[in-house]
Amino acid sequence: MAQPAKLTLNRSASPALLTEHEAPWKKELANAVTDPGTLLKKLGLEAHQQLIDNNTSFRCLVTESFINKIEIGNINDPLLRQVLPLNEEYQIDIQQHGVTDPVGDISAMASPGLLHKYHGRALLISTGACAIHCRYCFRRHYPYQGASCSSNVIDDAVNYLTSHTEIDEVILSGGDPLVLDNKKLARLISKLEAVPQLKTLRIHSRLPVVLPNRIDDGLLTLLKTCRLQVVMVIHANHANELQHNESRKLNQLHDVGITLLNQSVLLKGINDDSDALISLSKRLLECKTLPYYLHLLDPVTGAMHFSVDENQALKLITHLEKSLPGYLVPKLVREISGKQSKSAIFSI
Ligand code: SF4
Repeated sequence: MAQPAKLTLNRSASPALLTEHEAPWKKELANAVTDPGTLLKKLGLEAHQQLIDNNTSFRCLVTESFINKIEIGNINDPLLRQVLPLNEEYQIDIQQHGVTDPVGDISAMASPGLLHKYHGRALLISTGACAIHCRYCFRRHYPYQGASCSSNVIDDAVNYLTSHTEIDEVILSGGDPLVLDNKKLARLISKLEAVPQLKTLRIHSRLPVVLPNRIDDGLLTLLKTCRLQVVMVIHANHANELQHNESRKLNQLHDVGITLLNQSVLLKGINDDSDALISLSKRLLECKTLPYYLHLLDPVTGAMHFSVDENQALKLITHLEKSLPGYLVPKLVREISGKQSKSAIFSI
């Protein structure tokens, strides 16, 4: 079968890319809050200082866009709980069944930063940086030192992809790949476009939700002109994360032809009730994004206090199935280290 023609765009000539050092999103990222005490103060919650861990090795990081969606004075706000480092993260009795690499990333490494777990697709950790530190993150202990989009790393990954002709989809992950600026992303994407058999570029990113202004004209142009079919999987766990600006930016991505999906993690105290999940699915549809996966928590040390048991998860999904059209019910899955795909969880 004939290969799709490779576009030969001179991306460095795009005015949108040339002016990106002035991009507002970079300023917002540079000014993200890293001190949990400051975060509590901004939200009128100084009285709760005793709940937080100020010495965590997985530091607090949260953007102004995300903070603005948190209810002032509510220590149980479902967005705040996703970013606030709590003492529970280090309580041995709660965390004892967690591990540091719950999904077997290290054993799946094919070249630095390139993970090959599943048939037909490979995942590239293009950066270790994020715009937010989600307390439930399954990669909170990942050794990101080797992750970068330097020429050597990309060339090694591209060589591996080229020699494995069964791989037709590459997944950009991290960290968060959209933390890379448009020039770096353009360089990376053009190398991937040159791998003949690749058909799909999947981007997993929290940025449309936590730093929506990252979806700028330069990025829209870059994705619109990519020769690969672009799928973006956003990560929203609660409807409150998707307000006006997030909706506007997701609509812009949709309008340039990006397929938009969402994956969530089922998190105790955040979205473990059917009303919250139903509202999320309905809000996603308004944002042109379809629910894709609802993950059981990957058992990572430091996040076990978010764990929801499988029976409870099944009850929630059953309720969703009775309340929503099928296309708004995410698939309940868990990732098991060493398995050839995500494992769907069905009722017996
Ligand atoms: S944005 Fe993704 S990689 Fe970064 S902390 Fe959150 S879940 Fe982890």
